[in-house]
Amino acid sequence: MTVKCDLELKPQDVTSPRWKEECGVAGVWAPGRSVVDLCYLGLFALQHRGQESAGLAVTDGLHIDMERGMGLMREAFRHRLPSLKGHAAIGHVRYSTCGASLFNNIQPIFAYFSGGFICLAHNGSLTNAPSLRRRLEKDGCVFQTGTDTEAILNLIARDGAQTTEEKIAASLQQIEGAYSLTIMTGDRLIGVRDPYGFRPLCLGSLPGGGYVLASESCALDAAGAEFIRDVAPGEMLIIDRDGLHSRIIGARPRLARCVFEYIYFARPDSVLDGLSVWQARYRLGQQLAREFTGAADMVTPVPDTGITAALGFAAESGLPYVEGLIKNRYVGRTFILPDQAERQSTVEMKLNPIRANLKDKRVVLVDDSLVRGTTSASLISLIRRAGAGEVHFCISSPPITHPCYYGIDTAVRKELIASHKTVDEIRRIISADGLQYLSRPGLMGAVGDPEEKLMCGACFSGEYPTSVKDVENKECK
Ligand code: SF4
Repeated sequence: MTVKCDLELKPQDVTSPRWKEECGVAGVWAPGRSVVDLCYLGLFALQHRGQESAGLAVTDGLHIDMERGMGLMREAFRHRLPSLKGHAAIGHVRYSTCGASLFNNIQPIFAYFSGGFICLAHNGSLTNAPSLRRRLEKDGCVFQTGTDTEAILNLIARDGAQTTEEKIAASLQQIEGAYSLTIMTGDRLIGVRDPYGFRPLCLGSLPGGGYVLASESCALDAAGAEFIRDVAPGEMLIIDRDGLHSRIIGARPRLARCVFEYIYFARPDSVLDGLSVWQARYRLGQQLAREFTGAADMVTPVPDTGITAALGFAAESGLPYVEGLIKNRYVGRTFILPDQAERQSTVEMKLNPIRANLKDKRVVLVDDSLVRGTTSASLISLIRRAGAGEVHFCISSPPITHPCYYGIDTAVRKELIASHKTVDEIRRIISADGLQYLSRPGLMGAVGDPEEKLMCGACFSGEYPTSVKDVENKECK
């Protein structure tokens, strides 16, 4: 087994109230085949969900082999994958904040316990993680990482149930918040989605036999699997030599699938819970155009995540869709870089204007969200310096006024510009001629949830579907 370990934890990593991760998980089960390459391919399609580190674990039922590393997958694995020819594998790509981007926080995480070994990968964020960890530490548990995921591993290892499946089911009763998990033991692959369904998880079948679990359907495509269905909120799917079994792990208080997956986070070629991300984004753009009150000559996106909404905006408004910014594809997404200084400096590294298309034009610039305002101000300045007559900044989501505690880093509240500024104040700060947000009813209507019964929109309203007392950053409220 080749697990590397760096136990040097920074104190803030284990005490931070902001264990926020936005990650991707994958798992493959195919008896009689070596699956590490398939798991790698699936995980590679989820690279957009986490770019700070990646890990893969493979088993043949008796042994486990794992490779983990910092950075993008090509950096993390450096052309070296686990060498074990195993029939089951799980993988994880990770993004984190609060200084937790450390080697020993990389997932999957792994432990031996009374039931053998267990390997676990987690997308989401537990809202009772701090109290859970305090309780476990008081009971004598030791932690080797700063992640909330390790608490799940400890709960499973300490549970008194007879079987691993029962241990997992019992442990899940004690955790709250957002979790889509892939779990691997010597004899099974398990997929779990929390009862609210915050984060996506889907199931596919492999030609010739076997199954793939993944955060998004684009990963099934990449692994050559055929989509079967989404894992239902509150469902645990167990895959073993007898096939596929399902059990319900918890009562479903309400559904709260993350609407932000459709706005920004998921890949447009994915289908989440029956809704195409591309189509949802296009509809957001159409609705934004209906709500737009200004006058303009052209529509241009902030590439890449504004493209689909800008296409919808152009189709609905009748304005021409014109490329105004070209992206350097070798620079990472600004939203996903952890440091404010990096965010500011990368805008102009990342985007360059096409002056011939922008000169003297009244431009509708479409982006998916406005978080702190610094990136938006830089973008607008870039378009103006390229000769645009007017810049109308149109956002295909409502103002983000509250932080997310369910696995997406939208910053602490005081950093969210819309939490303490009016729309007109923000417009002046970012120096736009016009600023148009998509309305909340417009957003929820476009994703097919006009009564807000299926999706979470807490970052736009502060109406959190679960208690967040344990994790909220009180100093920012
Ligand atoms: S608070 Fe916002 S980002 Fe977080 S799960 Fe809810 S909708 Fe998604």
